Amino acid sequence: MPLVNTKELFEKAYKGGYAVGAFNCNNMEIVQAITEAAKECNSPVILQVSAGARKYAKQSYLKKLVEAAVEDTGLPIALHLDHGADFEICKACIDGGFTSVMIDASGHPFEENIAITRKVVEYAHAHVPYVTVEAELGTLAGVEDDVKVEFGKSSYTNPDDVEEFVKRTGVDSLAIAIGTSHGAYKFKPEQCTRDPKTGVLLPPPLRFDILEEVSKRLPGFPIVLHGSSSVNQEYVKIINANGGKLVDAVGVPEEQLRKAASMAVCKINIDSDLRLALTAGIREHMNAFPDHFDPRQYLTPARDYVREIVKHKIREVLGSENKA
Ligand SMILES: [Zn+2]
Repeated sequence: MPLVNTKELFEKAYKGGYAVGAFNCNNMEIVQAITEAAKECNSPVILQVSAGARKYAKQSYLKKLVEAAVEDTGLPIALHLDHGADFEICKACIDGGFTSVMIDASGHPFEENIAITRKVVEYAHAHVPYVTVEAELGTLAGVEDDVKVEFGKSSYTNPDDVEEFVKRTGVDSLAIAIGTSHGAYKFKPEQCTRDPKTGVLLPPPLRFDILEEVSKRLPGFPIVLHGSSSVNQEYVKIINANGGKLVDAVGVPEEQLRKAASMAVCKINIDSDLRLALTAGIREHMNAFPDHFDPRQYLTPARDYVREIVKHKIREVLGSENKA
């Protein structure tokens, strides 16, 4: 099976009440861990590449790694550009064989966002085979590679805007802001309440009212959630027990994401949770075996941790097991 775009993946996900995981990849170990987990769960999957990943690993390397994963697993896999900042980067990825791109012009005024998105959609849809396009309305807080938005400068998606935006751009899916956030420090402690027993921060709940209103205005239309790592505390604990120092790292509770996946949300982006799992595996190994220096020795358990967290997400959060 060749790489697929997201059209059919989302149609099935919408009808089936689940979401497809979009996991960020930066190197071979991460690509293998994600796709081996998906294979074990017989789940569709989206591998996404950010501008930072293109800088780190080069687009051509990541494309070949993902193609190798398709060959290895036989799964329906989409190769997606995460947060394309302008037409040029989207075009470079479409020309380079990506099957899906995101144009993120959400930092521009509404009319400009429409114009920029429309231009990408025209190019992507004219491509053979058809490349799907995701756009964004509203702004998430937090930090993701080159995308940085200060707390207090973020804004929820206004449901009044979505119909006009989708109609005028022809976009295939829409990322909305309902309170998720990029990075491993998604919320400031003062936005949260602290669990008196565990001391762990509990973030403010997602705005399901906005999601419901958006899906009423766009029946059957796939919605995307960015910044949806849950910052699983087991990995934070391993990292901190082995020389790390992650203080008050907090994510979106998995139950809330599961609920969103059962609604109109068809794609959930997860990056930080994989980074945390990989780092936990490396730190734990390095601490236990200070004489080791072969990268395969510490990257093997690190890759195992990433595979485990992806399986957990597919089964407990996305609901996409046996949907390939
Ligand atoms: Zn994002």
